[in-house]
Amino acid sequence: MATILIVEDEIPINELIKRNLQSVGHTCISVFDGKAATQELAQREVDLVLLDIMLPELDGYEVFQQIRGTPTIFLTARSSLSDKVKGLTLGADDYLVKPFEMLELLARVDAVLRRTRKASKEYELDGVKIDFESRRVFLHEQPVECTPKEFDLLEVLVNNRNIALSRDKLLELAWGFDYAGDTRTVDVHIQKLRKKLQMESRIKTVYKMGYRLEV
Ligand code: CA
Repeated sequence: MATILIVEDEIPINELIKRNLQSVGHTCISVFDGKAATQELAQREVDLVLLDIMLPELDGYEVFQQIRGTPTIFLTARSSLSDKVKGLTLGADDYLVKPFEMLELLARVDAVLRRTRKASKEYELDGVKIDFESRRVFLHEQPVECTPKEFDLLEVLVNNRNIALSRDKLLELAWGFDYAGDTRTVDVHIQKLRKKLQMESRIKTVYKMGYRLEV
């Protein structure tokens, strides 16, 4: 997974982000002001920076000017259009307005990592190997036929592993916001994935809620 630098001076928010990113397998480094961010980035390479705009020492824009080239998602409490435009004009990869849902953050992080990282787009668990680039799945080296939606759902589960996802959230993430189908669709696809990939004990049912891929 990825190494992510979290630059956020509000300690509870910084820690919440860190916990959530770590729970899906990322390595996180937390810093609490702009100067510490540039010092950290001078010493090591990271895959992604989550960068608050209102920061002590140097603000997020100043930090961003100095770290050119590292994929960056701006985080800010400001929701004005001009800030959003400024962040994206400077070349940020994405922009999140606080407060945001953690699932929203994880989805954006995955999207940026997917865009910016060409290599290591594989995931392996037990005998299951998933190649995200070619969208192929193998079980004990044997190809498994998955429909496009089964693959999308599997990808969502993997990207949000260890997190309980409601059926509605799964529909939203795998089928899209405007999908009009009902949540039974999710159950049917989950059953198929469990069977095809022998993941009965990995894809857990979360009582009265949805599902979680447990790793
Ligand atoms: Ca701040």
